[in-house]
Amino acid sequence: MKIRVLPSRLINQIAAGEVVERPASALKELVENSFDAGADRIDIEIEQGGLRMIRIRDNGCGIDRDDLELALSRHATSKISSLEDLERIATMGFRGEALPSISSVSRLKLTSRSSSSEHGWEIRSDGSDVADLAVPASHPVGTTVEVGDLFFNTPARRKFLKSEKTEFQHLEQLVRRMALARMDIAISLTHNERAIFSVKPATQESGRDARLEAILGRDFLEQSLPLEHEASGLRIHGWIGLPTFSRSQPDQQYFYINGRLIRDKLINVATRQAYQDVLYHGRHPVYVLYLEMPADQVDVNAHPSKLEVRFRESRLVHDFLFSSIHRSLRDSVAGRSRSQPEGLPLEFPETMSREHSGARGYVGSLRNVGSFERQNSPESLRTPTQSSIRFEGSSGTTYREVLGTSQREPTAPPQTKYQSDQPLGRALAHLHGAFILAENQDGLILVDAHAAHERVTYERLKEQQFSGKIESQALLIPLAIEISEMEADAIEREAETLLNLGVEIRRVGPSKILATALPALLPLSGAEQLIRDICTDFAQIGQSRRLEETISQILGKMACHGSVRANRSLSVPEMNALLRDMEVTLRSGQCNHGRPTWVQMTIKELDALFQRGR
Ligand code: ADP
Ligand code: MG
Repeated sequence: MKIRVLPSRLINQIAAGEVVERPASALKELVENSFDAGADRIDIEIEQGGLRMIRIRDNGCGIDRDDLELALSRHATSKISSLEDLERIATMGFRGEALPSISSVSRLKLTSRSSSSEHGWEIRSDGSDVADLAVPASHPVGTTVEVGDLFFNTPARRKFLKSEKTEFQHLEQLVRRMALARMDIAISLTHNERAIFSVKPATQESGRDARLEAILGRDFLEQSLPLEHEASGLRIHGWIGLPTFSRSQPDQQYFYINGRLIRDKLINVATRQAYQDVLYHGRHPVYVLYLEMPADQVDVNAHPSKLEVRFRESRLVHDFLFSSIHRSLRDSVAGRSRSQPEGLPLEFPETMSREHSGARGYVGSLRNVGSFERQNSPESLRTPTQSSIRFEGSSGTTYREVLGTSQREPTAPPQTKYQSDQPLGRALAHLHGAFILAENQDGLILVDAHAAHERVTYERLKEQQFSGKIESQALLIPLAIEISEMEADAIEREAETLLNLGVEIRRVGPSKILATALPALLPLSGAEQLIRDICTDFAQIGQSRRLEETISQILGKMACHGSVRANRSLSVPEMNALLRDMEVTLRSGQCNHGRPTWVQMTIKELDALFQRGR
């Protein structure tokens, strides 16, 4: 067969196969161009799911007349000029591929005016090699790109497109993702001339909250924790959803690296692991996170769509992400989670609809307990009752001691003041053998005793497990496992890490390892699969937390079985001991499965319930 050089239009169409998979991927490229042009306003109009037309107008720097044609030529870019530039990309684009690719599979109209020009210029191209000559056009400084009849000349590709509705959903999701990437830019979207979405530039916190609300809904705003950490030249900030606000699909996970929307395996792994302790299996956390790092530490030239990246120090990035999120979740100790943000008063109608959105009351409670120091509780409700006896000396007392005996409570003098170091208040009663009713300065607290006890027990077990070296048990018959050579290399390098976790591994061949000891806690039955998975993790992402995860799961099961069962009646001191332990136990606002362990009803909410104006 004869070899021949392909015509440039075909080359562009081949490239378009990678870059422009569907209307949303074309729009992504166009929005990125507007970002790169320094625009602070972007208006997007869509017709028929983007199949008929995508038009995007920005007020960025514009393109000079002489450059218009170049903009549509392959490998022509204003963004990089050398290999050094490529190694630290500061712009969204750099490949010089998007416009030529899109123009090779659509009828494209590019209108632009730079600040040095008196009026705009326009060129058109309809899937052919050469664009028409530029003609004068009226246009403010900035650029409008109009993509008509996408894939009109590549019917095979067009057949792969879904319905107008589905394609528009992709477009809309993309616009939302881009709107979170750059909060400082105003963005609007219309579909078939109907306004769908419009956000103002947000530079202040209130504006950012408004944008988050517009994109992710009010629930997210209420059910998330702000996060910010900085270490080793890496900075992460954003919001992470509370475990109780998890989803059945990973559809609300927004991750940006240096302003670029990224989907990356390492990031998925790190976030999943950070939530591991507090989420039901199969639930997905919600987050909006921004990672800032030196541009030369991350290679964005890993894939034509620029959605995937390679990290120079993947392990560092993984550990940084994992520990930042993990720490923030852990720090949400019961009753001390999130102080009530200013200007966002808790409104009653939201808590009224509690039954429609399970955890909402819970978050209301997080916010309220944060303002624990307030002195506005009505005296009438603060009158101490006979049962509000504080159990002294609960710290240091183990559950087995406290809960194992159900003697009558020691009588202590009634408390007249709420103790600010006891945000969960004092126990009043045990309801239906399941719930603890307690009272604090802000109102009433309800605790799911089993869930709370489970969490406290679990954390204790885990602390014991991880404070010392994990107990390891030698195997009578070592476990021989065949893996790939690459995996064996990786596992050999990590032998010491594994040893610290109680796993002893020896390499006995190019692709064969021998496990000679395993953690005493680990059931032998699943050991081989676990080790295989660890090997794959190490080989693929340079680290593994599987062992810790498995041990956590086992501890979780043990904790569950060792916890207070429903219908077992608890005395007031027992309940108070549990409340005090919850306050000092990590993550006790959530049980091991990500359900809330307690909720608060504030005086304000109680007042409103009985329509008591004050
Ligand atoms: P890349 O973004 O990788 O450089 P593109 O094909 O997306 O490649 O765009 C080619 C060039 O056209 C860009 O380098 C830029 O100079 C110019 N350009 C494209 N869109 C715009 C825009 N909205 N505003 C200003 N210049 C633009
Ligand atoms: Mg581009």
